[in-house]
Amino acid sequence: MKIINPATEEVVAEVELADAAEVDRAVERARRAFGPWRQVAPGDRARLLRRFADLVDRHGEELAQLELANAGHTIGNARWEAGNVRDVLHFYAGAPERDHGRQIPVAGGIDVTFQEPLGVVGVIVPWNFPMVVMTWGVAPALAAGNTVIVKPAEWTPLTALRLAELALEAGLPEGVLQVLPGEGEVAGARLVEHPDVAKIVFTGSTEVGKEIAAKAAGQVKRVTLELGGKSANIVFADSDLEKAAATAPYAVFDNSGQDCCARSRILVEDSVYDEFMQRLAAAVQGVKVGDPRDEATEMGPLISAEHLERVRGFVDEPWLQGGCPSGPGYWYPATVLTPELTDRAFTDEIFGPVVSVVRFTGEAQAVQIANDTPYGLSGSIWTRDVGRALRVARAVEAGNLSVNSHSSVRYWTPFGGFKQSGLGRELGPDALAAFTETKNVFISWE
Ligand code: NAD
Repeated sequence: MKIINPATEEVVAEVELADAAEVDRAVERARRAFGPWRQVAPGDRARLLRRFADLVDRHGEELAQLELANAGHTIGNARWEAGNVRDVLHFYAGAPERDHGRQIPVAGGIDVTFQEPLGVVGVIVPWNFPMVVMTWGVAPALAAGNTVIVKPAEWTPLTALRLAELALEAGLPEGVLQVLPGEGEVAGARLVEHPDVAKIVFTGSTEVGKEIAAKAAGQVKRVTLELGGKSANIVFADSDLEKAAATAPYAVFDNSGQDCCARSRILVEDSVYDEFMQRLAAAVQGVKVGDPRDEATEMGPLISAEHLERVRGFVDEPWLQGGCPSGPGYWYPATVLTPELTDRAFTDEIFGPVVSVVRFTGEAQAVQIANDTPYGLSGSIWTRDVGRALRVARAVEAGNLSVNSHSSVRYWTPFGGFKQSGLGRELGPDALAAFTETKNVFISWE
């Protein structure tokens, strides 16, 4: 498959796609590697993961440049992402020695629990944050003693392939971490169906996620699902309006809106709507769109011609559009819509630089609109009233909320979705629980 730079439309690499037979061979290698890997002493497994993290750190600029060329990410974002891969590996390198069970009081003996690794884990990755999303699954899975096969998205396999090389260089044994580029319906589907794959971590669209969950159910295969979103950014009249308006574009246009946490619905309290829109317009016009290699650039191209067409299809009469380069590359400008609550642009995940703004009156209506969606991934609440911030944060049905801020992802805090945005949690202090089974053992002292 030809891998295209979305900013220039030039071919940057050619990658061979794995078929079902290749997946079967990889599963067999992973299955054989599992026995010895789970026996590696916790401290040694930790050391190997730290070495892997150090190598990622040393190759950070190379990985960032690769993501820039493959996915069109701005250099600023791509450097942050390479740093995140390193940090996630370091964080879970601290986990093997802490993956302990419990001792529970019982009569006639002792009762202890063990956290047992699952076996072979398949990690299926989307194209929007290739190396970051891959690592959120890989790092805790390896720390818990599993072996892993990664299936990157068709369009973005390059950083995943490089990370697999760095893992080998760090000393991870052959077969412990494999990366298999391939088509979703071929290689991805085979991983899901394979009886020797104990768990699937899937990040991608809700549509494919449902299909995977249904297939996995046939084998009671474990799944973690990180799916789509249509998150609300709720702006109350008592908020710091200047800051709320200045930051709103970045909460949705970052990574050209190709972000599952994008705050793509802005809900503004009636009484400040006009002032907010005036400020928002200025902020949107200020977003720097262009060459991802330029350190001042804030938004790059979309991932592909196909995706560009899809995004275009949502926009009829924009309230406002910023500028973007013409010529080669899959460019789309930052766009603001003011749709009806029932418009497709307001209800569907666009996954591009398009934001919809609507009005509300009062707290109850804000919460009602925010929750009127099958999704529940993230969201923001802008208010100076602490009580309201807490009430609304508890009422919004979403896994990752921020108050007077738009941040939702830190590797040491849990991340995941309510409703059709997902199942299970990644990152945070409990991530290893998703990659282990709890075993209870009673030992009689009779
Ligand atoms: P996608 O569902 O089309 O593909 C995701 C991955 O699944 C790819 O690797 C693809 O090859 C594979 N795949 C496709 N069909 C498959 C099948 N039948 N069996 C097994 N694997 C299959 O999603 P995408 O277009 O790559 O990514 C965009 C979507 O991902 C958006 O909806 C976005 O919100 C979501 N996303 C969610 C999160 C999160 O953490 N919640 C993070 C990033 C992206």
